[in-house]
Amino acid sequence: MNDQADQVPLQVRQVGVLGGGQLGRMLGLAGIPLGFKFVFLDPGADACAGVAGELLQAGFSDESAAMALAAMVDVATFDFENVPESTARALQDICPLYPAPNALGAGQDRVPENELLTGLGINVPPYHKVSSRTDLLEGLELLGYPAVLKTRRLGYDGKGQAVLRDPEDRERAWQKLGDAKLILESFISFDAECSLVAVRGLDGDTRFWPLTRNVHSNGILKLSLPGVFNEALQLKATEIVRAMLEHFDYTGVLTVEFFLVGRELLVNEFAPRVHNSGHWTIDGATCSQFENHLRAIAGLPLGETDQMTPSLMFNWIGEMPDLQQAMAIPGLHWHDYGKLPRPGRKIGHATLTASSMDELQINAHRLAALAGGEFPALLKTLFD
Ligand code: AMP
Repeated sequence: MNDQADQVPLQVRQVGVLGGGQLGRMLGLAGIPLGFKFVFLDPGADACAGVAGELLQAGFSDESAAMALAAMVDVATFDFENVPESTARALQDICPLYPAPNALGAGQDRVPENELLTGLGINVPPYHKVSSRTDLLEGLELLGYPAVLKTRRLGYDGKGQAVLRDPEDRERAWQKLGDAKLILESFISFDAECSLVAVRGLDGDTRFWPLTRNVHSNGILKLSLPGVFNEALQLKATEIVRAMLEHFDYTGVLTVEFFLVGRELLVNEFAPRVHNSGHWTIDGATCSQFENHLRAIAGLPLGETDQMTPSLMFNWIGEMPDLQQAMAIPGLHWHDYGKLPRPGRKIGHATLTASSMDELQINAHRLAALAGGEFPALLKTLFD
């Protein structure tokens, strides 16, 4: 049982969210039919979650703003994992916050994150802590090439990373990242990338959506295809994530990203929140990750996490295909986040659903051709 269960809000009406990006927006859109009202805290005056509730404009380290939000709501959560743990703890003194700050803090620095995972018996890519050029040389000697140098904190979507293929890349990588605390990892030549999105309720009830195959390009998610792995792998991933949920005595949605190497799963990282690779659940699963996160933090029974139809998510980065033409494709579900397009910015996604994998493939090729760029080639890596 969760030791915060005695704080279960009996009747949640107002939900506070630290962060007002697309994840907050989709939480809001999922919660409105449940009768919830939302308050978002975000530094941006034009934060895109603002359409789904009230927006408090303040920085994430502004503890008094977080406490003002806490005073307005019955329960709070976050859509952004780099909220300072101190802000989360200050807020928690005033209203329940899920997931609890222990899980938030644990994922913010890649070194303690890896130590925690290995302590739980979970495999991660071989790694070495780097705070100096000497550490980097030592790490490269231990791990060999290719390797990936990453910032320990605040990295996402491949930002704060450099791949070192041979000794000539060393100085360039150090110049790019050497100001921050770093971690060097072996470059894993994986067979696939996948993620498991899970939810745990206040009463400990735990559910898992199907393992989802993900295709990234330049460190950023482009495609997610759920339900294509066998049961043995699903079980293996489930056991890893279950161990993490129990360790944290977790409430809400937790996402774990893996590298699949042969039959082995290595954890790349986890996110204590709803996740881009779970967006397909809005249109393709009985209960979406967003609704189930809200059900969990409000102390409501969880919804079913089964996949209803073959589904495939396309992520729109910096630009979106033409709406008129996209809408002509059967089974298309469109999600525009209402953000100003900028290169590298996630501005929307689309999920295709179909009655069979064959139909899904046909429609996916149409959408990929319309989206252009890398999509046709990336799609081949999924279906070939
Ligand atoms: P991250 O921000 O750590 O999730 O990295 C973003 C993406 O970069 C991952 O989804 C992978 O595609 C790639 N990547 C990160 N770390 C490694 C690694 N150690 N080996 C191979 N690819 C990696």
